Amino acid sequence: ERDLLMIPGPVEFHPEVMRALGAKTASHVSPEFISVFGRALGRLREVCLAPSAQPFVVAGSGTLAMEMAVANLVEPGERALVVNTGYFSDRMATVLERYGAEVVQARCAPGEVPDTEQVERLLADGRFKVMTVTHVDTSTGVRAPAEALVRVAGRHGVLSVVDGVCATAGEVFHQDAWGADVYLTASQKALGVPPGLALLTVSARAMAAWRARRTPVRSLYADFGEWLPIHEAYEAGRAAYFATPPVNLVYALDVSLGHLLREGMEARFERHRRTANAFRAAWRALGLRMLPVSESVAAHTLSALYYPEGVDASFVGRVREQGVVLAGGLHPELKTRYFRVGHMNEVSPSDVLATVGAVERALAGAGYRREPGAAVAAAQAHLLEGA
Ligand code: PMP
Repeated sequence: ERDLLMIPGPVEFHPEVMRALGAKTASHVSPEFISVFGRALGRLREVCLAPSAQPFVVAGSGTLAMEMAVANLVEPGERALVVNTGYFSDRMATVLERYGAEVVQARCAPGEVPDTEQVERLLADGRFKVMTVTHVDTSTGVRAPAEALVRVAGRHGVLSVVDGVCATAGEVFHQDAWGADVYLTASQKALGVPPGLALLTVSARAMAAWRARRTPVRSLYADFGEWLPIHEAYEAGRAAYFATPPVNLVYALDVSLGHLLREGMEARFERHRRTANAFRAAWRALGLRMLPVSESVAAHTLSALYYPEGVDASFVGRVREQGVVLAGGLHPELKTRYFRVGHMNEVSPSDVLATVGAVERALAGAGYRREPGAAVAAAQAHLLEGA
């Protein structure tokens, strides 16, 4: 399979990460595994720039990470404000409702971000327990102003829960410095590990809110109370058992987090920004319109682009024939009108050019012709400047 995987997760993974998945599986209570798991938990704190947070890493997908945040922090009847930027914010509202929260949503048109002042006015009513934000909504390619929103929530004494599934380790995020309470994520995107891990870093304030609950957490598997002693034990070099950890995925996580930290988080954020800008230059050269209403609210981890006049959803299949895998739309109202290109983790300059070239050829094949190579040249110019 030589196709280049350029969807918004799962993404291409480093060969050393893939090799870790094929290693002999040790006992989950063996000294080897204890040291790897303990180290990976510490590394997750560093990646989230959250030295004071409690990390959780459990087998599951990003949706489980969403459920864990909600199951532990929200009790039936408590109020939650969802800053809604698309499909995954809708999902967060659904999770909150399942756990009995009273949900209020700050909404906006697809491609936009709810106004921070509007959010602040809602928070000022004083009765919200949590506010949730989707850092990057994978359905729209919209990036929310996470820092401003988290700080506003903090000022109003509201716990902030940020869904970083399509952002963590690709978009700037300083959990401790900003005072974000929960950063939740999954393995398969900018963290560079195949699907199967739900990860959260939880502030001391949020852990205190969990301790102060009046009702038990309804889900056993999602309960911080079951996992906290386990994670504490592994970090302290001891084994403990609640539910069997995904040993090989944890190996892979440790390898990938090691790579991330060697690159350095600021360098990594900057590289994702440069890659996104090279793609944006190519999209402009092709005359493609992004779904986010402006570059200031556009993600650096993916591009969501409307099909141009005369091109339909069969386009994604045409790009695949060119050796590059892209994704179709996901937003319920606009699904058939746009496509998505993921650019997370180890996307090299050559991957950028291969992807842009494949898009150019597939567009030409669909009857949308521009000057051959113009988009590749635009991306290349950007990559050379950034070098
Ligand atoms: N939140 C966001 C922003 C996502 O992009 C996704 C997955 N694409 C999820 C949550 C859910 O994660 P998963 O599919 O791993 O359950």
